[in-house]
Amino acid sequence: MTHTVRIIAVDNITHDVKRVLIEKPLDYHFEPGQATEVAINKPGMENQKRPFTFTSLPADDHLELVVKMYQGEGVTQAFDELNTNDELLIGEPWGSISYKGPGYFIAGGAGVTPFISILRKLEADGKLEGQVLMLSNKTEKDIILEVEFRQMLGLKFINTLTQEQNDRYFQGRIDKNFLEKFVTDYSGYFYVCGTQGMTKDVIKTLKELGVKDDQLVYEK
Ligand SMILES: Cc1cc2nc3c(=O)[nH]c(=O)nc-3n(C[C@H](O)[C@H](O)[C@H](O)COP(=O)(O)OP(=O)(O)OC[C@H]3O[C@@H](n4cnc5c(N)ncnc54)[C@H](O)[C@@H]3O)c2cc1C
Repeated sequence: MTHTVRIIAVDNITHDVKRVLIEKPLDYHFEPGQATEVAINKPGMENQKRPFTFTSLPADDHLELVVKMYQGEGVTQAFDELNTNDELLIGEPWGSISYKGPGYFIAGGAGVTPFISILRKLEADGKLEGQVLMLSNKTEKDIILEVEFRQMLGLKFINTLTQEQNDRYFQGRIDKNFLEKFVTDYSGYFYVCGTQGMTKDVIKTLKELGVKDDQLVYEK
């Protein structure tokens, strides 16, 4: 089923990432980590659906999306033109990333979106103990919700930059060297979300480090 929802507010949270607050349809339920198909309700765009993840909490009276905009022919660049009272078309929630237990949340760029809702829910439930967020970014200005994650997790929010030298952050990709340095407990879950390439590489490396299939959570 498709729901037509009004935009309540839209703002920039980085130079190319928008936060979009939208109305929540009646009786609409999602689990933290789930996504849905989204289209912009403007002439010619209604059928151009793209998947985005809910970043709000299930109990909130609105829905929130965090959308990275890419330049080119695609849909996400049109998010730059959206205003309050414009409409989106959203489908039913789906997805295989959900919270199973304490562990490491490993993300590349906008791949952090399923972990926003999951970590906000854990914070609301007082269950942030033992959770670690590792986020790979191109540069400092690409880090999504840095202040919020730092307040939530303190030193258990570890950023690395792949395209900028900066004394305040670790340098390089989330590879074997990085994981060996920062993973201190292999008994919990490993949640991975990024580009297909990054997800594949990180999972392969985690397995080399002894992580079992049933400890891995990612979008299949
Ligand atoms: C389950 C799921 C949940 C998702 N949740 C979110 C979310 O919450 N927030 C979010 O911002 N994105 C999310 N994405 C990714 C998002 O769906 C894509 O970024 C979006 O579909 C791109 O649409 P587009 O029409 O702008 O680009 P497309 O027309 O698909 O591609 C145009 C160009 O944009 C660039 N591009 C597009 N996507 C990517 C990418 N992922 N990495 C690098 N370059 C890219 C490429 O240069 C590409 O050639 C999710 C994807 C999945 C599968």
